[in-house]
Amino acid sequence: MERILVSACLLGRPVRYDGAAKRVNDEIVERWRAEGRLVSFCPEVSGGLPVPRPPAEIVGGDGSAVLDGTATVRTDSGDDVTGAFLRGARLALEAARGAGARIAILKEGSPSCGTIRVYDGRFAGTLVPGHGVTTALLERAGIRVFNEDQIEAAAACLKELETPSP
Ligand code: SF4
Repeated sequence: MERILVSACLLGRPVRYDGAAKRVNDEIVERWRAEGRLVSFCPEVSGGLPVPRPPAEIVGGDGSAVLDGTATVRTDSGDDVTGAFLRGARLALEAARGAGARIAILKEGSPSCGTIRVYDGRFAGTLVPGHGVTTALLERAGIRVFNEDQIEAAAACLKELETPSP
């Protein structure tokens, strides 16, 4: 059975920087949960950051640039938390591989989990195209990453992966 790595906050875990969750109410996700497919994971908490924690944004690029060492992740007071974000991304990849997950559903906009948009590093609420650090690492490892608005696309991908090739 295919398993799916999911941002813990989307599954109702109160692990966001502000101590809240962002639970997604979706019947496909509920079915997957009942089937035991979901692997709940929060890269920032696993990377060693507390709850609550200061908000952080990627400065100088997106998650791919962080992996390449050309951008950093900083809190709103300028502290460099890049190491924790990289550690969390590596642990997320280990968790996905350990579970055999080839699909992930991650929270859009997060500096770890963003799939198509991240904040621009100025703490002004401006989103720009780009990946979070964990998303970038998972995608480099060949894992298909979707966001919470793409659950039907994730379901189609899952079906494809579970269809035996002729
Ligand atoms: S790091 Fe990802 S899973 Fe953790 S709170 Fe942020 S968006 Fe949710």
